[in-house]
Amino acid sequence: MKKIENELLNLKKSPLYKERVKNKVLPVVGEGNLNAKIIFIGEAPGKKEAETGKPFCGASGKVLDELLAHIKLDRSTVYVTNIVKDRPTDNRDPKPKEIELYAPFLDRQIEIIKPNVIVTLGRFSMEYIMNRYGLNEKCDTISNLHGKKFNTETDFGKFTLVPLYHPAVAVYNRNKLSDLKKDFSVLKKFCKK
Ligand code: URA
Repeated sequence: MKKIENELLNLKKSPLYKERVKNKVLPVVGEGNLNAKIIFIGEAPGKKEAETGKPFCGASGKVLDELLAHIKLDRSTVYVTNIVKDRPTDNRDPKPKEIELYAPFLDRQIEIIKPNVIVTLGRFSMEYIMNRYGLNEKCDTISNLHGKKFNTETDFGKFTLVPLYHPAVAVYNRNKLSDLKKDFSVLKKFCKK
């Protein structure tokens, strides 16, 4: 993981690298337990995340913490990361080229951790993981797939994918929190394993 971190720090070919250096912020590699059974994958760091180098530590992170507490899942037992490791300017959506550039780092992180469960937060990580790990035929809109479970087999073993809405949906609309909580309950059965 240290090697991945060093490579990301020096990723001069990234269109987001210049912005990072200019703004004196950090890439966000990921954080958590390297023996985690569950890995959460968001989209890209926001302002607070780029300032601290930690994933989901701003407003969306507060929602994520609330959701983890709801299912009594201790954040220190899981691994949390993003598909894009540098903050896209002005919090815009990640571009396909950026996803393409950063995704191999995510693949390597997944191979190191070998999770039993991958939880994608938002459509970008959902689409990437489904296409990357043999679930492309089942890929659909996030409104059709959120809270469902998909089993797949890879070179490093099997895992279950659970696509969820991005916690940011509850930042501006607190009514969405109950939908997110309901979806998170799907993860309860994996917490015991
Ligand atoms: N949104 C994300 O997708 N990831 C973060 O780390 C923070 C906000």
